[in-house]
Amino acid sequence: MDFDSSNLRRGLREAGLSNQVIDAAWPSWWSEELASDPSGRAELRFALARKLGISPRGLLGERVEFIWKDDAKFKHLSTEDAAQCAALASFGVAIGRLLIRGTPTGPNISGLDASILREALLSSQPYVDLLGLLSLCWSVGIPVVHLRVFPLDTKSMHAMVVKVDGRYAVLLGREASYPAPLAFTLAHELGHVARGHLSDAPALVDLKDPATATDGDAQEKEADEFALSVLTGSSNPTIITTTHSYNAPTLAAAVIRAAGQYSIEPGTLALCLAHREGTWARAMAALKFIYEGPRPISREINSLAKTQIDWQEIGYENSEYLHNVMGERD
Ligand SMILES: [Zn+2]
Repeated sequence: MDFDSSNLRRGLREAGLSNQVIDAAWPSWWSEELASDPSGRAELRFALARKLGISPRGLLGERVEFIWKDDAKFKHLSTEDAAQCAALASFGVAIGRLLIRGTPTGPNISGLDASILREALLSSQPYVDLLGLLSLCWSVGIPVVHLRVFPLDTKSMHAMVVKVDGRYAVLLGREASYPAPLAFTLAHELGHVARGHLSDAPALVDLKDPATATDGDAQEKEADEFALSVLTGSSNPTIITTTHSYNAPTLAAAVIRAAGQYSIEPGTLALCLAHREGTWARAMAALKFIYEGPRPISREINSLAKTQIDWQEIGYENSEYLHNVMGERD
């Protein structure tokens, strides 16, 4: 049979992978002239297989087979079908593996109490914020990136933790305009690591926002409590306000005033209040005043990541792939 790279692409599409992720993984060295060369064709298959977490055997005209299909854990799973979950987990593990290879190892935080992390962070800053958490992650050898490319056309995911050879990587999925919601997500994912929730799984995927999803999952509750303890010092913070008549600007002013006193980042304080009172719209509006307007937080997360990753360790082709997945070359 004549080799045609469009057949290969069709097979990947039929397995549920998005054009976006196929383009990101497709090696830039490929040209159709290589199609007549058996080693060129083999190299193309192996490159795609490695980057997407699929079995190279499945790219020889057979059905595409995802490597990490059975063991990954999915939180807040509703009607997603198994094939889509397998694509997500396999892609995530492949990316996590590259990131971990490019990140020097650090002290193990498994089993560590939230209060110890909080104390460590507060030794150098007035409260625990997103930047502090990101710096902590990199310093303990846990890479954190924001994905700009998703393996599925329709389904995205909130965040994922990947475990490779006893090490971890965090992949964030949801775009955010303010740091506080992502600080909660990152602290929640660290909770999954610290509480040993990946002891029997290569990946744990939070499909929905853990801050608002409630389905009684014990590990989710544990990760939430861990996150709140790191961010606020209490797994169930009681926020008392002297008035209920806040609007967005006065709420912003109040949490900025209170931040130093309680060692809680102002945006986090506003979100805690929203969680307690169900006033999400007001809190989100207040974030605009707290941070002086929205900005693409994913770009900041990935700018930091790009300075932390040892690109030489990852190699040229894989670096190109990671850059594609993280968006914006800079
Ligand atoms: Zn979770």
